[in-house]
Amino acid sequence: MINGNQPVGILAIQGDFALHAKMLERIGAPWKLIKYASELGGVGGLILPGGESTTMLKFFGNEGMGAAIQEFAAAGKPVFGTCAGAILLAKEVLNPAQEQLGLLDVSIERNAYGRQVGSSVRLGECPELAGWPVEMVFIRAPIIRRVGRGVRVLGRSDGLPVLVEQANILAATFHPELTEDETIHRYFLDKLNH
Ligand code: GLN
Repeated sequence: MINGNQPVGILAIQGDFALHAKMLERIGAPWKLIKYASELGGVGGLILPGGESTTMLKFFGNEGMGAAIQEFAAAGKPVFGTCAGAILLAKEVLNPAQEQLGLLDVSIERNAYGRQVGSSVRLGECPELAGWPVEMVFIRAPIIRRVGRGVRVLGRSDGLPVLVEQANILAATFHPELTEDETIHRYFLDKLNH
């Protein structure tokens, strides 16, 4: 069920935050764009959108946003990262190494599908969430190369983990906000009430 009290925050520094807002709007979940760390107090969960992780990282340092997100997650609030957002959440980033929030025990390799496969639509399986093949859009996507022991793999495509969860943290290497399928966002919204 959707928590009516607190909206879902969507980090709106850069990237495709507007499409997450559109998806939440469709589902009927309240949302709020987040530009400053101080705004996190008013939201029950947070989405880190796709875009360019290096650009978002620069902002994290300047505005104290990185530390604020770490505190937010430490308080048990759900955080969902898609593509660049998943890269930001990881404990280890490869190709090249870069700073991260370290909230999700995975090693993730940036731009890992190669230049020629800049973008693709694939079908994947999320057996616990959907009884149908899930359409997954990958855009200069990363690949999760290592999954820590406390991390559950909820979705796979081509045998690779593409949707993972560690307690209140959820991450997808693809863009569920780019398809009509609301399953992944609904799953995240359920976490706000648990
Ligand atoms: N390649 C981007 C990065 O490394 C991620 C791309 C995306 O979010 N679609 O941050």
